[in-house]
Amino acid sequence: MTSLADYTTLGLGGPAKAFVDAPTQSALIDAVTAADASGDPVLILGGGSNLVIADEGFPGTVIHVNTRGVAYADAADGQVDVTVAAGEDWDGVVAAAVDGGLAGLECLSGIPGRAGATPIQNVGAYGHEVAEVITNVRVLDRLTGQIQVIPNESCHFAYRTSYFKQNPARYVVLAVTFHLAREPLSMPVKYAELAAQLGVEMGERAGVGEVRSGVLKIRARKGMVLNPGDPDTKSAGSFFTNPVLDAEQFAGLAAAAPGPVPRFDAGDGKVKVPAAWLIEHAGFGKAYGAPGRARVSAKHTLALINAGGATTTELLALAREIRDGVRAAFGVTLTPEPILVGVTL
Ligand SMILES: Cc1cc2nc3c(=O)[nH]c(=O)nc-3n(C[C@H](O)[C@H](O)[C@H](O)COP(=O)(O)OP(=O)(O)OC[C@H]3O[C@@H](n4cnc5c(N)ncnc54)[C@H](O)[C@@H]3O)c2cc1C
Repeated sequence: MTSLADYTTLGLGGPAKAFVDAPTQSALIDAVTAADASGDPVLILGGGSNLVIADEGFPGTVIHVNTRGVAYADAADGQVDVTVAAGEDWDGVVAAAVDGGLAGLECLSGIPGRAGATPIQNVGAYGHEVAEVITNVRVLDRLTGQIQVIPNESCHFAYRTSYFKQNPARYVVLAVTFHLAREPLSMPVKYAELAAQLGVEMGERAGVGEVRSGVLKIRARKGMVLNPGDPDTKSAGSFFTNPVLDAEQFAGLAAAAPGPVPRFDAGDGKVKVPAAWLIEHAGFGKAYGAPGRARVSAKHTLALINAGGATTTELLALAREIRDGVRAAFGVTLTPEPILVGVTL
């Protein structure tokens, strides 16, 4: 039996009852259709970088999306539409766009996983999200068996979510089309740490290549680029989303906090608060946890890691301790960002 620990960046997860490799779109569609027809539970697996899978494994068919192909087409507005098969390595797509002088993806450098997963949670980093550049998403609708092209406006993209994440068993992403600019300069820099790294003002642009290397440097400092030699990168990225609070909730938090709470405007009178700040100020500092097992990253309090010998049960116990501790300290309930398979928090 295939151990799913070999397919997740956390290195966690028990065996799959069945495991199918899907190197082509037709193999992917056939595998999903056959499993659905047999009534077997299905887990669509990309790079496994946003998955926390039970120690007991998955009692159904895991379908590994390994489709390949990137097509560039001139868009009517003079820019470029890049259509990427779901199984393409995401950072390879970003690197090729940057090398080709195309702007729009550079801030999303260094994020692990496959292109097909990027619309699922509307992947974002350093002030930008894929929603800003996605034209459409080609999917298999598992309810109807039809292939559909879903335009951006119907994807309901929001902070770390989408229509696909809200309807988890319905769609298989087959390909994603991105609208990129033929432009040597990046999207405006919207993240203070990145602006400082690049030596530009907020809102200014820099060369796309400079932005990519600036982002990769910052990510490496935080353990947010996969590195087999660095246990602090053996994670699912951010374990919790940044809570979005209304004015009343924020006032409660500010009253309980030991000092000024960092916040970012989230529209509609709401603010986004860094989960990492809440975790740290609730007493869970860097490297908190069991040495060599499940612990907080030594580089970033938002990443929970398997330092080698952890189990999913241990990782979730740590996550619960942190969630409960933050709630007790500040009255804010953190929500996990990764997809939990066969387990709950
Ligand atoms: C070190 C590190 C840093 C990270 N940094 C970031 C970051 O900065 N920003 C960010 O947003 N995320 C980040 N992540 C999270 C993760 O990399 C992204 O969410 C990524 O898009 C997941 O891709 P994947 O192919 O690994 O998906 P998987 O983990 O394999 O799957 C994630 C979910 O998507 C579903 N899925 C995958 N492919 C498809 C498909 N083709 N069709 C339908 N459903 C599918 C799966 O069933 C599952 O529900 C980070 C993770 C790590 C480990």
